[in-house]
Amino acid sequence: MTQPTIGRIVHYVSYGSAGGEYKPACRAALVTEVREDDIGLGVINPTGLFFDRQVRESDEHTGGTWHWPCVITTEQEAADEDR
Ligand SMILES: [Zn+2]
Repeated sequence: MTQPTIGRIVHYVSYGSAGGEYKPACRAALVTEVREDDIGLGVINPTGLFFDRQVRESDEHTGGTWHWPCVITTEQEAADEDR
């Protein structure tokens, strides 16, 4: 498993809205700190930046987690990544 290092770009999964109007979505995020169990991120949203600390890795695409950006090779994979 590749370890994140400060300055790398990962994906942060935004929280969807409580009413479901907005689904969780992948956002680009800059690694700002690295600890044993979690990392800090500067998250780049289309409409602005925010910072979060103690973000845990997960491949489940749940809100508030990070994962390595996928390598997209098919349209279906692109659709899956975009959900
Ligand atoms: Zn992603």
